[in-house]
Amino acid sequence: MTAHLDIAVVGSGAAGIAAAVTAARAGHTTLLLDQRPAAGGTGGFSGLTTLCGLYDDEGRFLNDGFAREFAEALAESAPLRIGRVWVLPYRSTRFRGIADRLLTATPSLQTLWKTPLASVVVEGNHVVSLNGFNVGTVIDCSGSAEVARAIGLECLATDDKTQAPAIVFPLRNVTRDLSTPAAVAQVLLPLARAGLSSLTFQPSLEPNTVTVKFSGRADQVLPLIEFLQTHVGGFETCMTPLSEFPLARREGRMIVGEYLLTGADVLAARKLPDAVARCAWPIEQWGTDGVARFRYLPQGTHYEIPARSLRAARIQNLFMAGKTISADVDAIASARVMGCCLATGAAAADLAVAHLESTLAK
Ligand SMILES: Cc1cc2nc3c(=O)[nH]c(=O)nc-3n(C[C@H](O)[C@H](O)[C@H](O)COP(=O)(O)OP(=O)(O)OC[C@H]3O[C@@H](n4cnc5c(N)ncnc54)[C@H](O)[C@@H]3O)c2cc1C
Repeated sequence: MTAHLDIAVVGSGAAGIAAAVTAARAGHTTLLLDQRPAAGGTGGFSGLTTLCGLYDDEGRFLNDGFAREFAEALAESAPLRIGRVWVLPYRSTRFRGIADRLLTATPSLQTLWKTPLASVVVEGNHVVSLNGFNVGTVIDCSGSAEVARAIGLECLATDDKTQAPAIVFPLRNVTRDLSTPAAVAQVLLPLARAGLSSLTFQPSLEPNTVTVKFSGRADQVLPLIEFLQTHVGGFETCMTPLSEFPLARREGRMIVGEYLLTGADVLAARKLPDAVARCAWPIEQWGTDGVARFRYLPQGTHYEIPARSLRAARIQNLFMAGKTISADVDAIASARVMGCCLATGAAAADLAVAHLESTLAK
């Protein structure tokens, strides 16, 4: 392990994987560290099975580069249209496997697992060291702005009211068709009448399996499954292989950057001169009632994320990607989906590399 690193990436979710591989491919010594035992973040470890934010309204890729490369490696089926949006169904084991393969195959890239961010040292307006390594630039992909928090930078935050958490689990042996909103409504109605918390069904690549996003408590999951077995046709033998039901947290913290992307930018499909990524995902806010509220962009449009939203306002060599970009509570409710995190991760790496090279040239 070298004592000096060109680029340190904190957090190995969709954003951090994209940032680390892109930075190291540019030939710079790069460290990716995470408190988890392996790469994947929320997309690899929370039971999710749909990668959102990759496509426009016609199902075409919005971003080329690493986002597209990762999605094409991950894909085992064609994208699916759900209402007005397109998603890529995936398996989380494959998500983690592809992340591992790409990270391992990239020269100049070192990884540190089970390693929480421990220390960040700033001199003037530069981060100079992180966890004891001297660093040239840093990319915060922690989802909760851990680097920024460690040095007291201004952040914005969503919370459990603006983005409620959910328990995500697979439900097997489901023989009922859930492919249309009307079909799903027929299942949700008896649940609502019985006073059970709201849930949504997501597609899964496993046969006769759906992914459930449930807004209740862990001790309500097994009674919920029993209710479905007893009262809803097509669920008689449904079961989950899981025995623990942790909450997956949607909320996050965003670092204030040179530009604050707003919900108005998203809904106006705003184009910006220093655009580095595109997104067309609606503003998707989850209330504590477990119901998602969607606000869509005009049909056929997308908005752009500027380089300034990936650069910290007061620290010249700190960049951010994924759920930590400089965005307000409404804008991040769109830009937090994984397709967009992959795109901002790669873009933040390009910016970090350009910063490093301009510094070296001086
Ligand atoms: C319930 C739920 C459902 C969702 N559904 C979907 C969906 O269907 N499709 C979709 O595209 N998106 C979905 N999302 C959103 C999406 O999964 C996340 O917004 C996205 O994965 C965030 O990616 P990221 O790389 O920014 O952060 P993360 O994937 O959260 O990665 C951050 C990483 O940083 C690490 N880290 C944090 N703090 C530290 C520290 N102090 N030291 C070291 N490491 C640290 C974490 O361990 C983690 O691995 C959902 C999210 C939730 C919670």
